[in-house]
Amino acid sequence: MSTIATDAIVVGSGPNGLAAAITLARAGYAVRVLEANATIGGGARSAELTLPGFVHDICSAIHPLALGSPFFQTLSLERYGLEWIQPPIPLAHPLDHGDAVCLRRDLQEKNESLGNDGEAWCGLMQPFVRNWEKLAAEFLQPMLHLPHHPMMLARFGLAALPPAAALAKFCFRDERTRALFAGIAAHSFLPLEAPVSAGFGLVLGAAGHAVGWPLPRGGAQSISAALAAYLRALGGEIEINCRIENLAQLPPSRVVLFDTTCWQFAVIAADKLPDRYRQRLARFRHAPAVFKIDYALSEPVPWRATECRSAGTLHLGGTLEEIAASERQVARGRHPEQPFLLVAQQSLFDQTRAPGNQHTLWAYCHVPHGSVRDMTEAIERQIERFAPGFRDCVLAHHTAGASVLERSNSNLIGGDINGGAADLWQLIARPIVSPAPYRTPIRGVYLCSSSTPPGGGVHGMCGYHAARTALRDIFGQRLPAAPVAT
Ligand SMILES: Cc1cc2nc3c(=O)[nH]c(=O)nc-3n(C[C@H](O)[C@H](O)[C@H](O)COP(=O)(O)OP(=O)(O)OC[C@H]3O[C@@H](n4cnc5c(N)ncnc54)[C@H](O)[C@@H]3O)c2cc1C
Repeated sequence: MSTIATDAIVVGSGPNGLAAAITLARAGYAVRVLEANATIGGGARSAELTLPGFVHDICSAIHPLALGSPFFQTLSLERYGLEWIQPPIPLAHPLDHGDAVCLRRDLQEKNESLGNDGEAWCGLMQPFVRNWEKLAAEFLQPMLHLPHHPMMLARFGLAALPPAAALAKFCFRDERTRALFAGIAAHSFLPLEAPVSAGFGLVLGAAGHAVGWPLPRGGAQSISAALAAYLRALGGEIEINCRIENLAQLPPSRVVLFDTTCWQFAVIAADKLPDRYRQRLARFRHAPAVFKIDYALSEPVPWRATECRSAGTLHLGGTLEEIAASERQVARGRHPEQPFLLVAQQSLFDQTRAPGNQHTLWAYCHVPHGSVRDMTEAIERQIERFAPGFRDCVLAHHTAGASVLERSNSNLIGGDINGGAADLWQLIARPIVSPAPYRTPIRGVYLCSSSTPPGGGVHGMCGYHAARTALRDIFGQRLPAAPVAT
């Protein structure tokens, strides 16, 4: 590791670490990123996990929040090689007997495909779709802030606060529409009876209409590569194979930002942190974990419902009641026999992912935090339910439970992919209650990972807001809450 002094150090090169580094470099400061792994990108990386030529996303696959991120939008990452692909159907949710309900980009088309519930879906989503940019700027920052669009935020808050199951039953009459909303809300990792679970359904549903559910050509690594290229163009440096285990290891700098979870930070800075702050971090709770499988396939998945063959993302879990039961079990520390699955079929729309006419498939289900159970059988049963004959297409597969995930990225403690549960309390106190929760008790040292607001997902907004706080505190420079292109 270089020991030369610099203005700012960022520990970790996930999307938030790179966003923080870019924000500081754009303000004119010398920045060095120190990454533990041999490859940059953290939760946005890709690799040949199964067979040669099959490119799999190690973590993130589908990126509505990256394309819709107010910060990434100011970077014009296309100039650094990032290309977004929009599948014809963003999301399909197959049901039994060959039926499927879909989220389509166009709200009007969506209205027609939902029959009785078309108007209700549009009525719920339209205000947030029309105001997506304002909404994204408001909710992708600490909850405790002075809103620029108070009326719109109040309207969103009213719809977002209830449990997803209650909102779906109140708004929709058709089981198909309820299932569609339930699947989107289940991205929250919360039981569908929990407050604010509806908020995840609204944000990701509105994003589907406003910006789509796109995938980057070449895999999630292309996002990290574009961010790194942007940073280097500003003079920023990145060092790999550089794990920080103690503050004393760091070269001299005026500012340090940690793209690690709050629990790792509590260990790295243990002897410099007041007991009260350390205890607060120790009380911050984990989300459930994921069990992930990547497949190399000889042909596309033989979905029964034809719409599924044009969708980038699929939610497999059946009705709202079935999905709710699966998520409830996970919250109670049990492994569901019929898990709710999130599935992506990138190679149908991006030929760089697999050789010849072969394909990849990315899938994960929720499991209790720290789970050691192999969910392959349960996952394949759920896929076969909607695509009989799927197993015959499998050339190879690669599984990643909690321990494999944590070995590949030490932020993924016990398989928690979001830096801590995103329930109502931990959305407010992330990880502490403050309008600037990025600040730590050590002057010049900040947290910038998804353990801070707005939380998980590839959007870089934790990094932007943390760097903005550091710029104000240490360099006396003020940036607006909503990022602007420079
Ligand atoms: C299986 C899976 C699927 C996902 N799917 C999606 C999806 O489809 N869409 C989406 O938007 N999001 C998805 N996510 C979530 C997304 O990947 C994360 O929310 C996001 O990457 C968080 O970014 P971050 O910068 O906070 O942390 P990370 O991306 O986790 O990056 C942290 C970095 O810090 C490094 N690091 C940790 N400790 C140290 C240390 N001591 N010294 C030096 N470096 C260190 C790590 O190696 C890592 O590179 C998924 C995550 C997983 C695991």
